[in-house]
Amino acid sequence: MREDTTMVVVMRGSASSADIDKVVKAIADVGGDAFVSRGKNQTIIGLVGDLTHFSELPLHAFPGVEDVIRVSKPYKLVSTETHPRPSTVTVGDVPIGRDSLTLIAGPCAVETEEQTAAACRMAREAGATILRGGAYKPRTSPYSFQGLGEAGLDILHGVARDIGLPFVTEVVTTADVDTVAAKADMLQVGARNMQNFQLLKEVGMSGKPVLLKRGLNATVDEWIMAAEYIAHTGNLQVVLCERGIRTYEPSTRFTLDVSAVPVAQSLTHLPVIVDPSHSGGKRELVMPLIRSAIAVGADGLIVDVHPRPELALCDGPQALVQDDMIHLRETMLRFARVCDREVVTREQDRRVGAWGRSASA
Ligand code: PEP
Ligand code: MN
Repeated sequence: MREDTTMVVVMRGSASSADIDKVVKAIADVGGDAFVSRGKNQTIIGLVGDLTHFSELPLHAFPGVEDVIRVSKPYKLVSTETHPRPSTVTVGDVPIGRDSLTLIAGPCAVETEEQTAAACRMAREAGATILRGGAYKPRTSPYSFQGLGEAGLDILHGVARDIGLPFVTEVVTTADVDTVAAKADMLQVGARNMQNFQLLKEVGMSGKPVLLKRGLNATVDEWIMAAEYIAHTGNLQVVLCERGIRTYEPSTRFTLDVSAVPVAQSLTHLPVIVDPSHSGGKRELVMPLIRSAIAVGADGLIVDVHPRPELALCDGPQALVQDDMIHLRETMLRFARVCDREVVTREQDRRVGAWGRSASA
């Protein structure tokens, strides 16, 4: 398979013109182009063409060669190099894309029908246009609540259909992909599964949009390569989610890497959203992190809400409560306006003018 990339050959300061010509000729012989930049102390040769041919050349062993560096990114389908225009992913009929701001909200875990319905109503009140909820939970401890599984999926499906919004839910094993894809509008691959390559392929093949969380210790490149796995199946409906990374700092659950948002947006055409709940891990940090996420240019937010967090079976301390909903809604509107983003609203809200009322309240 042809693999277009850019490689750079760094010549030693002592390299002769004949050494440089030898590299240039070898590249030309395999159909590539070599661009020679003669610096004061060193010459650099940029190679453009088919990497599969270059990699057969023992460039490191050529006289006068100091180093051979591959420059181009290894991902292709999700890269801005191949697809410079940002893409919009549609979940149900709700867009997530570069010039808008989409709120996804709901309970961390589906616990009961009442709790799920209450949390999803709160989410709608805050202006969420996509609901979230975990039926299959990836828990650090085997003694923690593992989620209700298929029964939880059915509860969330019923609640979401009653409310009239699409929903995203996590799938933790390949065995559950078909079951989850039959009901959910978007499949979530959690942080702990970001490099579960078989799962990435199978969620890709489901044809459903995928929310791909960044691994706790994944670099941006590794995260984007995981997205490339999904795209490789022909499914480009992928949304990246920055949810905090593991650092030495214990005062937050994870460190929200706000820089990763514009970095990922410059490298890929995929939308990038932020999870301020799993990163901060504390209710009082969620609103400040939401503000920073909007300011840094996130394409959306995914937020945990719970009607009684003190009773939550999963992640209660980070869940926003009923009293936070109006504040969340107004913060989204206010910050989005300042940052030239349009908050994605539901058609029915637009018709009855609920957003207009809220914005001026
Ligand atoms: C979640 O969203 O419920 C979750 C488990 O998130 P993460 O994979 O980012 O920890
Ligand atoms: Mn959680």
